[in-house]
Amino acid sequence: MSETFDVIIIGAGSIGTPLAMSLAKRNLRTLVLDKEASPGQGQNKRAIGGVRATHSDGSKIKACLRSLEIFSTWQAKHGDEIGWIRGGYLFPVYMEHDEAVLKELLKVQRGFGLEIDWAGPDKVRELVPGIDGKNLRGGTWAPGDGSASPLLSANAFYREALKLGAEFHFKETVKEILSGGGLIKGVATDSGSYFSKWVVNAAGAEAAAVSEQAGVKVPVNPDCHEAGITEPAQRFFEPMVVDIRPGDKSKNYYFYQNREGQIIFCLTPQPPFWGDDRRSTSEFLPEVSRRMVSLMPGLASLKVRRTWRGLYPMTPDGFPVVDFPESLKGYVLAVGMCGQGFMLGPGLGEAVAAHIAGSPSPEDREILAGFKLSRSFSGQEKLK
Ligand SMILES: Cc1cc2nc3c(=O)[nH]c(=O)nc-3n(C[C@H](O)[C@H](O)[C@H](O)COP(=O)(O)OP(=O)(O)OC[C@H]3O[C@@H](n4cnc5c(N)ncnc54)[C@H](O)[C@@H]3O)c2cc1C
Repeated sequence: MSETFDVIIIGAGSIGTPLAMSLAKRNLRTLVLDKEASPGQGQNKRAIGGVRATHSDGSKIKACLRSLEIFSTWQAKHGDEIGWIRGGYLFPVYMEHDEAVLKELLKVQRGFGLEIDWAGPDKVRELVPGIDGKNLRGGTWAPGDGSASPLLSANAFYREALKLGAEFHFKETVKEILSGGGLIKGVATDSGSYFSKWVVNAAGAEAAAVSEQAGVKVPVNPDCHEAGITEPAQRFFEPMVVDIRPGDKSKNYYFYQNREGQIIFCLTPQPPFWGDDRRSTSEFLPEVSRRMVSLMPGLASLKVRRTWRGLYPMTPDGFPVVDFPESLKGYVLAVGMCGQGFMLGPGLGEAVAAHIAGSPSPEDREILAGFKLSRSFSGQEKLK
């Protein structure tokens, strides 16, 4: 079997699925290939659903402001329930140093159009009733951020992409990226070959191995993170709470209450666990629950229903790689989404599709400018 498309996307995940939608909207004949049986079955479904534009740099802020627009208006425009809650993001602060860093960032964030402010201790206590008030200095508060269900969203984007004419082949693994004379030709899978002018690598945690097929090295390594969910409780707070203080065996952790009233939580282990081992550890639950209960003692009575472990496709500096390598015309990298692929997906999808269609706006260019493969990777994202 051999067919010709304008664009082939490898991966129907957090990035590939909304990108297909944006490409099909521009009348580009698009094929998405995924080795799993349906959309969002890679790392997308391991995400806890946080969507924030509260970042430390312009590219991520602008991409996520676009994503927020898409998530927050989805149900009104398309009718699907995706679990969107405009709960805001709150970074409560207990240490002088953290206050200085976050207050400094406010200027950058506001400069890029983010609605964010410093909330005093009383406002923080009002937003999160029962939060530990000892040494509480306040926190940053971005009311327009929120959360949505990764699986409901991936399926909504998938249905919309199909409606717009994109094709999806599941249970098909890309084995070879076809090229010749410095130009992309298509891909070969375990079932056949497909030809196209563009091939987008949106293969998530496996992006580096897939990129080797194109002869392009990308610094993306899987980094294991665990998450969990409790039984439901009556709603008692709205924001995603991000505690950036270091713990005994962890860096930050974050949690929110979803539409069903369940608390969903996630922790950044320290030291990191590199690799693709997805078995749950015995350290995660004691560490995260001790920290959450000390921040919000009222959580102690909730039972945890389930935990899981997934992979962040990490880059050395915590920023994605979204680029068009000169060495292979038609090859597109949309990889290295770290812990933010779900929130970046729809906004980045729009920006990448506009570049492929040859009509990027100044903002599309600005978004991709921060994600070049040729950068030194020596910086560090402050709000990973
Ligand atoms: C515990 C946890 C919590 C998280 N919480 C959040 C959060 O709150 N908000 C947020 O924005 N992000 C969060 N993330 C991060 C987020 O899940 C990832 O950044 C995101 O899913 C990566 O998107 P992606 O499209 O690059 O990869 P994926 O969604 O994994 O998609 C890649 C797809 O490529 C397919 N694929 C790979 N190789 C091939 C091949 N050779 N042939 C065919 N198909 C292939 C895979 O099957 C997969 O479906 C979290 C992650 C974890 C682990």
